[in-house]
Amino acid sequence: MYEDRREDLVNVLKTRGITDENVLRAFLKVERHLFVPDIIKAHAYSDVALPIGQEQTISQPYTVAFMTQALELKGRSKILEIGTGSGFQAAILVEMGMKVYSIERNYEFHQKTQKLYDNLGIRAALIYGDGTIGWQESAPYDRIIVTAGGPEVPKRLLKQLAVGGKMVIPVGDRNIQTMQIITKISDDEFSIKEAPNFKFVPLIGKEGWKSE
Ligand code: SAH
Repeated sequence: MYEDRREDLVNVLKTRGITDENVLRAFLKVERHLFVPDIIKAHAYSDVALPIGQEQTISQPYTVAFMTQALELKGRSKILEIGTGSGFQAAILVEMGMKVYSIERNYEFHQKTQKLYDNLGIRAALIYGDGTIGWQESAPYDRIIVTAGGPEVPKRLLKQLAVGGKMVIPVGDRNIQTMQIITKISDDEFSIKEAPNFKFVPLIGKEGWKSE
């Protein structure tokens, strides 16, 4: 079901500059309509963010593709995601063969996505908690992806990133953020590339915004 719609979406992603074949292949496979509420399924393959309840959104496909491409994935990497939400971004990473840990602060979303993953047979470690402090138990991570926008880069996430690893994170005010693509060169050296004009829901927590 919806195969043609996924092909159309992949063509849109290509015209917008997504070239990583493995990313595009994952978008042909992962059924986005299963990750959105029933009443908006018809829009699942449009390149727009969609509401998933409680003022949260499943990110725009282009944004998911852009961030995934920016991670420059090769082989099987250990990835930490902050902001599980609908589980779509993590499902793309799992489809690409990654070992995924994903943290969600909203218990309802955490539970709902765990159930969906159980039903679909998607294997990832879903964790309930504040992702701004990371998940020390399984650190270091080859890649970290933050799918909510914070005022700054949480220091503990930089610590939990492996040397040679990459982190993608939107940073800015509550309305607009710049995507920071960070490479950890050594324990205290980082290089940063930036892409402007993204809009994410707020990253709320100890090293994020303090309230909704
Ligand atoms: N990656 C998700 C995007 C969901 S929107 C997807 O593919 O659908 C961002 C999510 O981040 C929301 O579910 C929100 O509850 C969560 N979030 C915000 N602050 C967080 C924090 N400190 N730790 C973990 N999750 C957080």
